[in-house]
Amino acid sequence: MRRVYLDNAASTPMDPEVLEQMLPYFCEYGGNPSSTHAHGRRLRNAIEEARRTVAQCLGAAPGEIYFTSGGTEADNTAICGAVQAYGLQHIVTTRIEHHAVTHPVEHLEAAGKVSVTWLGVDRHGNISLDELREALASHPRSLVSLMHANNELGTLYDIAAIGEICKQYDALFHSDTVQTMGQFAFDLSALHVHFVTASAHKFYGPKGTGFLYIRKGVKIPPLIAGGGQERNMRAGTENPALITGLAFALDKCCRTLEAKNEKLWGLKTHMMRRLQETLPGVTFNGETAPGRSIPTVLSVSPPCNDADCMLLFNLDLVGISVSGGSACNAGAHIGSHVLREIGASDSTLRNAIRFSFGMQNTLEEIDYVISQLQTQVSAMLAEA
Ligand code: PLP
Repeated sequence: MRRVYLDNAASTPMDPEVLEQMLPYFCEYGGNPSSTHAHGRRLRNAIEEARRTVAQCLGAAPGEIYFTSGGTEADNTAICGAVQAYGLQHIVTTRIEHHAVTHPVEHLEAAGKVSVTWLGVDRHGNISLDELREALASHPRSLVSLMHANNELGTLYDIAAIGEICKQYDALFHSDTVQTMGQFAFDLSALHVHFVTASAHKFYGPKGTGFLYIRKGVKIPPLIAGGGQERNMRAGTENPALITGLAFALDKCCRTLEAKNEKLWGLKTHMMRRLQETLPGVTFNGETAPGRSIPTVLSVSPPCNDADCMLLFNLDLVGISVSGGSACNAGAHIGSHVLREIGASDSTLRNAIRFSFGMQNTLEEIDYVISQLQTQVSAMLAEA
């Protein structure tokens, strides 16, 4: 059976060229990057070269890049570290952030260390910059944590404008850029942002590695204590294979950004158009236009009756891997926190599908998915 993978926001397939770069670091180049002998030095040099590559892609200095195990660790390090180091007593964020942000914020709140302003979001997942200003006017010197693009909706925030507001109120600004890293031309030197986070498996690199950008002059404690790796910011022996793979993958994405975006927007707009033609009543969750959304994510609410979660299940049976806007556990429905927060209907909470596109996808695959979806939706509606 053919399989179509449209779940690239969950994880992109690794680029074989990335694997090629990584391979010598598994068996051929032994040693520990912290050792001072030749074996160690070769690995240390590879890590520092990777750091320079990442920094160059982002308009940052190499000293501002810290490798981590991924996006979750980077988000936790930034949020917990900023609160601890600067004695911050207030956080401004939303409830539609990834759990890698909302959960550490909730833990800090439950421990009595911070109070939190949860900004409202509209039905597309947008925030109001005026509400952000009001929150910071009553709590200057806060930590603001607002993601660049939402992983379920694709809605993009204007982090340049948010950064300027943070500057005005002397707030520290953390942005989870996991869904835009490798997809967006960053110049961090021109943005007023103190922390950004990334995960290599979202830009065709390996799983289990990512990085945290910490703006020069900002000092936070490590999340993981132990050895002095990553200039005392992240203890534990580094994995040179993963780190060199990450840097190669990011560099390749940055070098091919324009062509990549053109292709991905082509896939997304084609899918939107075909869905509107074939499924009357279909709606989209979140922003969908260039400039207001990312090309990789399209959240779709098909016209549905009360059937529960069967679309995802049936699509999987015909070879299509996509995510839902909801998770089903042993018959109990735990709706997506993001869709719930934007006020999605019960039907959307049950049946939303997140299609997310990658460079390996084709228009022909999209057409196959549309035809299968049309069959499933017609069958479902006929049963009503
Ligand atoms: N932040 C966002 C927006 C994500 O989409 C993800 C992964 O799905 C993460 C953080 C977590 O990244 P990682 O899988 O590297 O821990």
